Amino acid sequence: MTADDIRSRGESRLADAKERLAKLEGAPPRDRDALLRAVDDLQLALTNIASDISVLVNVHPDLDAREACEAIQQQSTELGVRVLQSRPIYDALSAVSTAGLDAHAARARELTLRDMRRAGVALDPARRAKAQELRARVTQLSQSYARNLRDDVRTVELRASALEGLPADYLAARPAVNGMVKVTTDPPDMAPVMAYSRDRSARLQLARAYYDRARGNIEVFDRLRAARHELAVTLGYASFAAYNLEDKMMASPENLDRFLDDVRDAAREPAERQYDALMEIARRDDPAAKSIGTWDIQYHLARAKDERFRFDPREVRPYLEYRSVRQAILDLAAQLFGLVFTKIEPDEIWHEDAEHFAVSIDGKPAGFISLDMHPRPGKNKWATSFGYKLGVKGRQLPHNVLVCNFPDPKASKGPALMEHAQVVTFFHEFGHLVHGIVRGNVVEWARLGRPAENDFMEAPSRFLEDYIFELDVLRRFAKHIETGAAIPEDLVRRLQAARDFGQGVMTEQSAVQSRQSLRLHDGDPAGHDARTVARAVADRESRFAQLEGSNWPVNWEHMGSEAYAAAYGTYLWSSLIAADIRSGFRNGLMDIADAHRYRDEVLAPGGNIPAADAVANFLGRPYNSNAFKERLAQSG
Ligand SMILES: [Zn+2]
Repeated sequence: MTADDIRSRGESRLADAKERLAKLEGAPPRDRDALLRAVDDLQLALTNIASDISVLVNVHPDLDAREACEAIQQQSTELGVRVLQSRPIYDALSAVSTAGLDAHAARARELTLRDMRRAGVALDPARRAKAQELRARVTQLSQSYARNLRDDVRTVELRASALEGLPADYLAARPAVNGMVKVTTDPPDMAPVMAYSRDRSARLQLARAYYDRARGNIEVFDRLRAARHELAVTLGYASFAAYNLEDKMMASPENLDRFLDDVRDAAREPAERQYDALMEIARRDDPAAKSIGTWDIQYHLARAKDERFRFDPREVRPYLEYRSVRQAILDLAAQLFGLVFTKIEPDEIWHEDAEHFAVSIDGKPAGFISLDMHPRPGKNKWATSFGYKLGVKGRQLPHNVLVCNFPDPKASKGPALMEHAQVVTFFHEFGHLVHGIVRGNVVEWARLGRPAENDFMEAPSRFLEDYIFELDVLRRFAKHIETGAAIPEDLVRRLQAARDFGQGVMTEQSAVQSRQSLRLHDGDPAGHDARTVARAVADRESRFAQLEGSNWPVNWEHMGSEAYAAAYGTYLWSSLIAADIRSGFRNGLMDIADAHRYRDEVLAPGGNIPAADAVANFLGRPYNSNAFKERLAQSG
């Protein structure tokens, strides 16, 4: 895929969608089914323009190609808003009689009408035009925000002594020059230092570099928040948060605030105990220590887990080589969900590092996945799952892509060993991918191709994370890189015992960030610097010290994306759902009958039914917060 390929394909798809729109507006089909189909075809055409470029803009090695993606993205957003604001389509859809209409078709219609109202179709022409213009501005600013983060990697020089105690394979890959070692802010490089280096000033130095990234976003984020607010007000909402949360399970800023208060109440006692344990460690290092910095939570948690549970993640690392982890995940998906992966070499690639697989479910072709798993310049720095192509039953097979930054077997000198926490992330992202494939073979309407409530989207992934703590799962692939010995049961038991320790403080921290994301978007941002807003929340709600002079939150990836802007609380919300789903596995996570039921009841319906109904169908009752709170209370 070259920049020219991206441009010409994007332009021909745009032309096709425009033609469909003109036809539909010119003469909307009189027949109900034909109308609904024509609207859905147009929605699918729009989705197909946006899907693959949303991946390519994050992974393509050529700047030229990434810029081509951004240009197509802007045009596709513009066209998308034009479609949503189309009065002839809105009127035709509204006039449809729903008597005897198939439930899924009725839901697709209803959600489409809501999308159209949310885009301003019902406004007067002047305000509709303003909403269109603001939407384009929001897209452009989001792109700048993401670009500034993607392109800013810092390098810090640390004394070799600061890396004492880091894993041997990590050190071997980074030989000292004149007693100094270079460490970048890319996650695989940085995370082990933050967790293991006993040198407090080295950790601080790296944190400062990390939170200084994307300085350009100080201005970009102010403008983005202003444009989001103005858009929401133009559409008739009190704030962008009200607009952003409306179509989610959380539903409103007030609900989200209440939910966060409730979570904080449930986390308070375990968090107090855990914080005391962490402070005790901090005071052993420095008797005058009065606080622990947010950037130092991981380090202190790692030490506490070591002391309490004799659990040292470094002990697990030699068992977690990238390639065997990847294979184990593919095998597990086969066993639990009936997904079988066959490696393929497609014609269309963006970088030779990505691996591609054809997927079948119960023997039938079910789509494709791609794994682009190692860092390189210009690539997204996060771990994300993307839809490269939306699956719609009988029309097109799903293609999902993981974009991660795990150790690279080709680049590292020696085996590419992973942190257990990275393997958890791998499972998490794979959960998104399984979800995309499974529902993409069931759902028949493009509008229902994903659950309507975005704050449900993290639940299947949070749930899958639990598997990498199972003895059954670890025993089958985790072999020592040198001796070939299987991971000892005793080590797995200690890993399990240590797993949830710290969930009290971590949940509180997640609630702090959720509240920051909400406060950054629940009023007119004029005159309210994002850093000041975020800091005020942290000062009120965090137990941990904040990094002085940091540019947080402008280097927070999620703030550039509309899926999370005011809704970072999605992670906690999804954790609550995931904990409840887990309680539905009465005979343990490896129960294949329950796993299939989970696949068919929770994953497969996609947007066909409300997410709450899908969960209730699996559990045999409505979801609640009991399992989530119980797990929190027992987290040490
Ligand atoms: Zn996720």
